Amino acid sequence: MNLKISALDYIQEVKTGNISAEDFVAETIQRIKNVDGNLHAFLSINDDAVDQARNIDKKIKSGEKVGDCFGMPVSVKDNMCIKNSKTTCASKMLEDFVAPYDATVITKLKQQDAIFIGKSNMDEFAMGLTTEFSACGPSKNPWNVDCVPGGSSGGSAVSVSAFECVASLGSDTGGSVRNPASFCSTVGYKPTYGLISRFGLISYANSIEQIGPLTRTVKDSAFLLNLISGIDPNDNTTIDNKNENYLDNIESGIEGKKIGIIKEMMDDGIAPEVLAATKDAIAKLESLGATCEEISLDMVKYSVAAYYTITATEAGSNLARYDNLRYGYDFPLEGYEFNSYISKARRNFGPEVTRRMIIGGFVPSAGHAGKYFLKALKVKSKLTKEINEAFKKFDLLVAPTVPILPFKIGEKIDDPVSLFLVDINTVTANLTGKPAISVPFANSNGLPIGIQLMADSMHDKLLLQAAYALEQTVSLPELSL
Ligand code: GLN
Repeated sequence: MNLKISALDYIQEVKTGNISAEDFVAETIQRIKNVDGNLHAFLSINDDAVDQARNIDKKIKSGEKVGDCFGMPVSVKDNMCIKNSKTTCASKMLEDFVAPYDATVITKLKQQDAIFIGKSNMDEFAMGLTTEFSACGPSKNPWNVDCVPGGSSGGSAVSVSAFECVASLGSDTGGSVRNPASFCSTVGYKPTYGLISRFGLISYANSIEQIGPLTRTVKDSAFLLNLISGIDPNDNTTIDNKNENYLDNIESGIEGKKIGIIKEMMDDGIAPEVLAATKDAIAKLESLGATCEEISLDMVKYSVAAYYTITATEAGSNLARYDNLRYGYDFPLEGYEFNSYISKARRNFGPEVTRRMIIGGFVPSAGHAGKYFLKALKVKSKLTKEINEAFKKFDLLVAPTVPILPFKIGEKIDDPVSLFLVDINTVTANLTGKPAISVPFANSNGLPIGIQLMADSMHDKLLLQAAYALEQTVSLPELSL
């Protein structure tokens, strides 16, 4: 059984009867058993997966209508609710939380007969970019197990890259889909803000985050977007995309398109291997008929500071609900008065989440907001203005997804500022609501490098067309594991 096939190929194979969903899912579970002890992509596995696949095979045999996913095994970041399954956000705080309802993306994929193979590891509450901040221990990069897989959707990227599922859902607040996709050589796509419902996604910084697919191919991401996008009465930030089919015309190419190369995303601090790969990608885009020209987005240099100020503030309110009364883990009330009970409970946040809570309480507070929070909001609106201007001139923007190569586990954990700066190329898309995608592009001594393309809001179709075109120019080594 070839577990390396794309989602669309899997569907074709099952549809035509070449493989059964049950065999594929059973082998996927076996694969997880074989490799995940080492990689730690998963926090929990769906014990019913094989039975569910068998039922789908039965439906196919009896000619019943089967959903578009045909039992495709999908992993889901552990911050999205699946009814009756644990949803922990890789936090001790939620280690006992069993979701009472399905997130909208889950409902939609269930209707299409996807099989949720397991919940994937992440940085606690999606705060981080290496998966080292998971309270359950880090995931490892399948390309080099000494290195981080990126994050915060690290488990999602590892599971796709190491053939432990066909596709995954992650969430991207400041790069958490694109960063691990780049580090693990998968496609990672953050759609326009509002294109996918966040109902049932546990909020970190809800004004800028989106759910997004991690897949083996660009077409697979477009396919998943078709299934999970669109208006949702349960999330008032969702946008009506008129049932757009993102696979239609995906092969139409980028002849004549104008592409801006973001200067500030290729400045100091970029690794020479990443710079060389980006130059190569630009040459490939030009050979496809696009014209590329440098553009400066001045506000990018303040984007990381603004991002961490805004997200800490939102996280401060979003995580206030974890008082151990409505959500939390089990310990008895006896022997505590109100405040000491809650403060003991809240000590179960890990150190990174705690740091964000402290910053999130301070930066918007009276007397300080002007210096921090309001300034950050100004950067956000100026950056949005700049990028909107850029999209008057350019159809797309390009930059490396991450300025450096995957680094060693533990290397940056004690140096948060240098760690946060790794987000420099990804946070702009979140702060401005624009769609962005990371395409696996190069491999330097066994370590993957992704290229990021960005488009204007609701130009996701164009973005996917460009990503597909770029993807066709690449031939990458296969993972041996
Ligand atoms: N590294 C960023 C952070 O820690 C991004 C995380 C994300 O996108 N969820 O906030």
